[in-house]
Amino acid sequence: MSERTGRSVHLVARPVGMPKPTDFAVVEAPVAEPGSGEVLVANRFMSVDPYMRGRMNDVKSYVPPFALGEPMNGGAVGEVMVSNAPDLPVGTNVVHGEGWREFAVVPAAATQPVASADVPLSANLGVLGMPGLTAYAGLLRHASMKEGDIVFVSGAAGAVGSVVGQIAKLKGASQVIGSAGSAEKVAFLTDVLGFDAAFNYKDGPVNQQLATAAPKGIDVYFDNVGGDHLEAAIHAARPHGRIALCGAISMYNATAPVPGPSNLTLAIGKRLHLEGFIVSDSADLRQQFLDEAGAWLADGSLRNDETVVEGIDNAPEAFIGLLSGANTGKMVVKIS
Ligand code: NDP
Repeated sequence: MSERTGRSVHLVARPVGMPKPTDFAVVEAPVAEPGSGEVLVANRFMSVDPYMRGRMNDVKSYVPPFALGEPMNGGAVGEVMVSNAPDLPVGTNVVHGEGWREFAVVPAAATQPVASADVPLSANLGVLGMPGLTAYAGLLRHASMKEGDIVFVSGAAGAVGSVVGQIAKLKGASQVIGSAGSAEKVAFLTDVLGFDAAFNYKDGPVNQQLATAAPKGIDVYFDNVGGDHLEAAIHAARPHGRIALCGAISMYNATAPVPGPSNLTLAIGKRLHLEGFIVSDSADLRQQFLDEAGAWLADGSLRNDETVVEGIDNAPEAFIGLLSGANTGKMVVKIS
């Protein structure tokens, strides 16, 4: 056993509704030595993501629940400090799934190289990482967005939504509309990211605000929110409209079942296509996405926006903040 110790974040109580700081504990413990084929990574950044809220419930899903009293995990990027894997020398930066901790022991085979040396390390968790691929695959594969489409995206100032809107513009959408939860975020969408229209969903009914922003209706809806947003999008959809069901964050803290959209039968007459998806199914698109997004970042046509919370002790606060709109772009925690 080495003398090295490291802090990690444990889930100590299953949240009811919005998570509270007391649902988490930061625990210091000795760090194991890496075995054969493993590396010890000093995590530089870790990701907090909405899907982690689902893992805090003791229910079966596409990823298993977090165990109580143990370190949580999730996306992270860091530097190899000790290597027992010939392909990953000390000093290599890698992306892996053992976040929520300062030091991680991971099999070399479970790491990915960083996307590009030309972007900040944290971009591997955001615009060039899982959220970026989610945006790309959801928009282009699952919603089959094509030139001339009118595109609406909810959660538009967040990690996935901000990239969806930018890619839609780059791929020739005729109009891109976003919704977000503050006046500052609305201004960010129109003035910084170049959305054609945006609204604050807290200002009034989403169906009314969407009808005003998109008087001709919409062809594509990228759903990060569910609930009233999905219902409004079904209402606004034009014939043969396509809806990519990516997330439903308005429901993640619900303590009772939430009804589905009351107007789903409109999908029949309008011949709508609604498709749920999980980003891991689109691993085959990763290289194509990295090539295209890397070029857009390099020529300035795609932005890397993030909100950085400093210190692993503040990771629970970053996660709670994510669920309440504290982030613009990708929420990451800087560990060291
Ligand atoms: P974001 O960066 O968008 O952060 C979450 C945002 O959600 C907050 O900033 C907040 O912004 C918004 N929000 C919180 N509560 C509500 C609410 N009640 N109604 C509307 N908006 C709300 O997160 P991500 O980009 O990482 O994820 C976006 C969505 O994509 C999530 O639903 C997530 O689960 C999903 N996802 C799905 C994947 C898949 O494979 N299917 C992969 C990755 C993400 P605001 O201030 O605007 O309210």
